[in-house]
Amino acid sequence: MNVFSVNKKTARVRGIYIGLGSNIENPYLQIKNAIAALNKIPGTAVLMNSGYFKSKPMGPEDQPDYVNAVVEIETILNAEELLKNCQLIEKQQGRIKQRHWGERTIDLDILLYADQQIKADDLIVPHPGICSRDFVYMPLLKINPELKIPGKGILKIVVESAVDKTSDFACQFAGNIE
Ligand code: ADP
Ligand code: MG
Repeated sequence: MNVFSVNKKTARVRGIYIGLGSNIENPYLQIKNAIAALNKIPGTAVLMNSGYFKSKPMGPEDQPDYVNAVVEIETILNAEELLKNCQLIEKQQGRIKQRHWGERTIDLDILLYADQQIKADDLIVPHPGICSRDFVYMPLLKINPELKIPGKGILKIVVESAVDKTSDFACQFAGNIE
């Protein structure tokens, strides 16, 4: 009997972007640690990061300013598996749900998963806030100025046209992630 051992290699998907945000318990370190944790997910690598961005809180104003960043990753995980891993990292970094858009040690959002458009109960991709939140589109455009949003078009053009721009939180670059 011939037995073949098939070495099934799953290809890594590229063009996946994760948005990170934190505003308590040393936000810069929280972001850095979450990026390190993303890089440790099996079959996953962080390819690029935007550096740190600082922004005013969205929602309740009686909370500290936010530090945000975006990373581009590649992974063998599908979008749902990636979401579960992101939620695990949030849990490991002590995220407790307090109030809507309230303070958090770390928030990880899947902004884009290659060219996929997903509308599930627990996962919407592209993330609906991309074109209207400067703390999302500014770091995204820093990584990839030509970025295309499936179903919407070239991000830079969508943002400039301002049709979809409902809010501006005065986001500013705040340094490289060392
Ligand atoms: P927000 O990021 O708007 O502050 P949360 O992080 O508390 O809010 O939202 C978590 C919920 O959002 C989760 O239950 C998750 O299933 C859902 N969700 C939907 N789409 C996405 C996405 N693209 N990335 C991350 N979470 C998402
Ligand atoms: Mg989130």
